[in-house]
This record gives sequence, structure tokens and C-alpha cells, in this order.
Amino acid sequence: MVGEWRSDLYRMACEQLRGVAELIDLDPDEHTRLVEPRRSLIVNLPVRMDAGELVNVTGYRVQHTLTMGPTKGGLRFAPDLTLDECAALAMWMTWKCALLGLPYGGAKGGVRCDPRTLSADEMERITRRYAAELQPIVGPDADVPAPDMGTGEREMAWFYDTYSQAVGQAVPAVVTGKPIALGGTPGRRQATGLGVVFVLEGMLARLDRPLAGRRVAIQGFGNVGGVVAAELQARGAAIVALADAGGAIAHPRGLDVAAVARWAREHGTVAGFPEAEAIDREAVLEVDCDVLVPAALANQITERNASRLRCALVAEAANGPTSPAADAILRDRGVVVVPDILTSGGGVTVSYFEWVQAHQKYTWTAAEIRERLRTQLTEALDRVLAAADELERDLRTAALSVAVRRVAEAARLRAVFP
Ligand code: NAD
Repeated sequence: MVGEWRSDLYRMACEQLRGVAELIDLDPDEHTRLVEPRRSLIVNLPVRMDAGELVNVTGYRVQHTLTMGPTKGGLRFAPDLTLDECAALAMWMTWKCALLGLPYGGAKGGVRCDPRTLSADEMERITRRYAAELQPIVGPDADVPAPDMGTGEREMAWFYDTYSQAVGQAVPAVVTGKPIALGGTPGRRQATGLGVVFVLEGMLARLDRPLAGRRVAIQGFGNVGGVVAAELQARGAAIVALADAGGAIAHPRGLDVAAVARWAREHGTVAGFPEAEAIDREAVLEVDCDVLVPAALANQITERNASRLRCALVAEAANGPTSPAADAILRDRGVVVVPDILTSGGGVTVSYFEWVQAHQKYTWTAAEIRERLRTQLTEALDRVLAAADELERDLRTAALSVAVRRVAEAARLRAVFP
């Protein structure tokens, strides 16, 4: 790996691509075109802080491939964000969109800052300046951002407004994940978590195991983990352990998720919840359970802890939670890993629905969106299972091969310009 692209996360994305390229006999020309992102923008934003000081804040946007249509991917505001983290995440977005059959290439971007230390006014100035700097490369048919870690509806509203001010008219299709009042779609906030549940339900049905009665441990109790916990409990599963940045808790017969959510709202963390046993934050991954849902950070299941996992199935709700070395260990141990590009595809799928509605100027009902989401994800799961049978490989390899084949075919047909 040369030049800018040296981070562990980016190497991991490239290693996955290389493995699949060998397996499906990918044309070396197509491999070359896909291994590095097509466009990467670094911007330094001069931002006036509330105290009067002027600081430079760095922002990024990476568009992995322009072959499939406009690009799509979230905006992450995080203190350690780097260009190659965005590049890895953009590549995964390409595979995710291709696997799900969405007409997008992958993108990712964001700003290196710590939202927890910023006031609302500072966040607004950063978001608006970042949106203005991105103006030349984003647009409703060019590149469509969405929320990711550290951003939400509020930032999407500012981004939408900044872009619309610049072009002189409202352009709701320039971002997704907007508030409902601005053309956001019902169910977007719950979409990723609900998607995890639909994929898990489908997967367990194939394995002839009911969801009811399954014991589930979840790392992360935010937007995604919180919805997964509530929806799984509502379907009869027992949430036996939960972790967030502040700590972890466990209960062998299942936690009361609504009560934990109330506690976490009041105390800022699940830690200290009285009707549970306190466990180490990292121990949540090693709790005895049927299903483990990593729904927090990347690179959590590694060669250090993979042999200690005590679950039959990992449903990856976070992006990139399992390292390639850990993947191999889990494969050898017979632990089924349902990969992130499938399991966490609900968010971008409902983002796509929001974008389509913005283009159509027509609103779908919440029930329609839920059913379309279930169909889109279940069909993607079918494609992955069929590829796993055909290639006699694990589900991640199968999912990537479906996605890479799709993108490589499109690139081959469009050929190389000039
Ligand atoms: P979030 O910020 O709402 O929640 C993250 C959760 O992880 C929080 O509860 C936080 O306390 C917890 N956490 C942080 N560090 C931790 C640690 N060391 N141990 C245990 N818990 C820790 O973020 P989110 O939107 O729920 O996203 C979670 C993951 O899902 C991310 O990897 C994100 O990229 C991925 N994802 C999110 C979406 C989406 O629509 N929000 C879509 C696809 C993928």
C-alpha cells in the first residue's frame, strides 16, 4: 500500500477486496480501478469559536466510485477522523449499495472534531462551512450525504439549508436523514436497527431457529444498538448484556430494555443500572449468548478476543467491527458472521427511499417504507446465501463477491474514459 492509504482500516478494506478478487477471478483492470477512491477532498475550515478564537478544523469527503450513479455515504464528526478512515468506509459503502441493489457508489466524509465539546452554535458554523466547501462535489445527483457518528437530523437540516441557499432554491434531495418537517422520511432514524432485526430474523429462519427465546448481547446502545435491543426484546429475545462507552451490564434472564434506556437517558450511560450485574465494557463481547451484535465501533472483534467469543452468530450492525484475522478464527470455530454490508444496510436503504421521495415530490407511508425495507434486505440476504452456496464460502466473502461482481460488471461495460 502506498501514498495516503496506510491505515489499518483501509488495509482491511483492501485485504477483503483482494481476497474476493482472487476468488471470483476479477479482471486486474477492474481491481486496479476499485482499490483506490476516485475522488478525495480535504478541506480546512476556518471556524470562529464561541470564545472568539479562530481555529482550523479539517474536513474530508471521499467518493469511492462514480460508476454506479451518484455517491452516497454518511458524515462522521469524530476527534480522530482521518482521510483513509473515510476512504475505507467509502469503499464499504460501495459494496453495501451494490449488494442492496441501490443505484449509488460509496462515499464517506466528515469533520475531525469532538461534537461533545462543541456548542450548538459552533456545530452549526462547522457544518455550514463544511457544506459550503463541499458544494463543488455534492448535489442531488452527484453525491448525497447522510448522518453518521456525531451527526444527525440537525446537521442534515443545516447542510440542506446551506446548499439550498447557495443554489437559490430548496434542494431536499441533497442530503438524507433530514427532519420529517424538511422532507425526512418516517422510520429513517430506526432504519438501521430495524434492518439488523430483519436480517437476523431472516438468517435465523434459514437456520430453523426462532428469534423468540434467543439470548442476545449488544455492544453499543446508541441509535442502532438501542433500536436493535428494543425491537429484539419486543420479538421475544432476551437482551442478556449491553455496553456503551460508559460501561456494560448483564443479566442472564434478560434486561428490561425500556428501563435501561430511561436510566441511560438520565445518567448518560447504561453503567450503574441497578437491576443488572456490572461487567467490564469489553466483556460484553465475551458473554455467553446465541447472538452477538456489535453496534458501536470498528475493529472490536480481533485476534485478541475472537477465540473467547461465546456466541453462535455475530450480526454486524457497526461498520467493520471484525478484523480479517478474527474472521478466520470465527470461521474455524463455526461461528456464523452476518456481515456489516448486509446487516447494517437498513439506514442507507431508507435513505435511498427518502431520496427517491424527494425526487418524486411524493411521500410514502411509514408502513410502505417498513415493508419495502424488509423486502430489500431479505432479497439481499437471499443473494448472499445463494452466493455462499455457489462459492462454498462464508457470508462475508459471499456478500462481497455479489457486490464486487456488480460493480466490476458496470465498470467493464462503461469502459475506461478516454
Ligand atoms: P451512536 O453514536 O448513536 O451510538 C454509538 C454507541 O456506541 C453509543 O452507545 C456509545 O456509547 C457506544 N460506544 C462507543 N464506544 C464504545 C465502546 N468502546 N464500547 C462499547 N460501546 C461504545 O452511533 P450509531 O448511529 O448507533 O452507530 C453505531 C455503529 O453503527 C457505527 O459503527 C456506525 O458506523 C454504524 N452504522 C450506523 C448507521 C446509522 O444509520 N446510524 C448506519 C450504518 C452503520
